[in-house]
Amino acid sequence: MYLVLFDKIYKQVALFVFMEECIFCRIAKGLVGNKEDFIYENDNFFSVFDIKQEAKGHALVISKKHFDNTLELPVSLGTELLDAIKNVVSKSFKDKSVEGFNVIGNNFPVAGQVINHFHVHILPRRRDDGIKFV
Ligand SMILES: [Zn+2]
Repeated sequence: MYLVLFDKIYKQVALFVFMEECIFCRIAKGLVGNKEDFIYENDNFFSVFDIKQEAKGHALVISKKHFDNTLELPVSLGTELLDAIKNVVSKSFKDKSVEGFNVIGNNFPVAGQVINHFHVHILPRRRDDGIKFV
């Protein structure tokens, strides 16, 4: 009886913990999606294509550990972050229509951050693609 009750509580706690974990943490751990879909990966970052393609090849570089935003990301990870960005961008330049790129970080909801886990957007840019920023 106690064992059954313990088992039920344990499963509910495990489910709660799973549901509380953000989507990027779950992707980083391989619980969602497929790691074979990673565009690039190093010790602390991985990259995947954004589901919402604002431009063809729109990718995200995401920290493997959970940090809410850029302010929480340790400075010591800066080199690896730049490494990930440069690798993803160099892959996008294999598409000969790509002539430039934007690296964008949205921090806090007022700036458009939707998922509360550090990531930057990489937007490959093409001549006359119609994308405008302020
Ligand atoms: Zn997370």
